[in-house]
Amino acid sequence: MAIDKSFFTTAVHAGAHPEQVTGAVMPPIFMSTTFAQEAPGEHKGFDYSRAGNPSRDGYEEALSALEGAKHGLAFASGLAAEQAVAQLLNPGARVLVCDDVYGGTGRLFRKLYAKYNLDFNFIDMTSLAEVKAAAAAGPVDLIWVETPTNPTMKIIDIRAMAKIAKDKKAILVVDNTFATPLFQSPLKLGADIVVHSTTKYIGGHSDVIGGALMTSNDELHQQLRFIQFAAGAVPSPFECFMLHRSVKTLAIRMTQHEKNALAVAEFLSSHKKMKKVYYPGLAKDPGHNLAKEQMSGFSGMVSFDHTGNYSEVVSFLKKLKVFTLAESLGGVESLVNHPEKMTHASVPEELRKKLGIGHSLVRLSCGIESADDLIADLKLALE
Ligand SMILES: *Cc1c(COP(=O)(O)O)cnc(C)c1O
Repeated sequence: MAIDKSFFTTAVHAGAHPEQVTGAVMPPIFMSTTFAQEAPGEHKGFDYSRAGNPSRDGYEEALSALEGAKHGLAFASGLAAEQAVAQLLNPGARVLVCDDVYGGTGRLFRKLYAKYNLDFNFIDMTSLAEVKAAAAAGPVDLIWVETPTNPTMKIIDIRAMAKIAKDKKAILVVDNTFATPLFQSPLKLGADIVVHSTTKYIGGHSDVIGGALMTSNDELHQQLRFIQFAAGAVPSPFECFMLHRSVKTLAIRMTQHEKNALAVAEFLSSHKKMKKVYYPGLAKDPGHNLAKEQMSGFSGMVSFDHTGNYSEVVSFLKKLKVFTLAESLGGVESLVNHPEKMTHASVPEELRKKLGIGHSLVRLSCGIESADDLIADLKLALE
């Protein structure tokens, strides 16, 4: 799939309107929690900032435009956005979830929501047969997909999941955090709701926690908008300003992230200390063909299995200078992460084993530095 060039324009202009009183091209941040009314209930569209705020409105307009959605909703974190989706469910609902979802998503479902008599079935969604069998085993209310998956970059067929969701009258949710709206448009492939941790690529500078939901379904939007207002997990006007600012450079950042990731993945593939490299942009990657069909780029995340034991992996991690050892991803600076001990420590050990998250697995978030410097850093640390 080819990149939609108009995305570069949309990202810069969506929701960015000069302020009406002064003409300021960059509108001020509306920190006000409340808004003057002319008569009870008569106001200019804003009454209380949990319900709506001009800084959030502009940003939400940008969010919806990024995914080509009718509606965008901003939340205080990716997990707050996910929690709003969970709150759509009624007791007794059955949910199919891909087995290598983001660790925090698994924790939210297993530790917080399962007790409300919700049935979460974790399955390998790269196997269509497994999904079909799970769907045939009972009613399905919601299907939760994350693709590419974290940390082994598996690709799940969104169109195929949409077909199953439609048959079961289930809501299809896609976590699009890794791919970003530049490289993947789940709504166009049949998803009902897109989720983002805007903490990652959309924010892009590792300085704001945020989440978002996008949908073109009016009814779902109404329910989610009500949950946003009634449960109150909203971002501050300042965070909305920061994230809206980030949106403008999303396309140009992603282009460089991807270029670097491909260069790094190719370098690693030919290195003798690599057991396996996970990057859907590599022709030999098992998800490559499907990724090429449903994505217009492969994003900036690369994982690999080192041939050495744990202490050799730690010594490699310590030697890196350009890559910082830290959780999270999607910032302009390159990060390295040890999933087993860091981001995926909360994943049950059995499941970690099944997913191939062991001592030797390392995940890279390739930043926007020079690819030569990233490769030189890795090369030296691997010696
Ligand atoms: C980080 C992340 C989340 C959670 O988002 P927060 O902003 O940390 O709450 C959800 N999904 C994916 C894929 C993530 O990487």
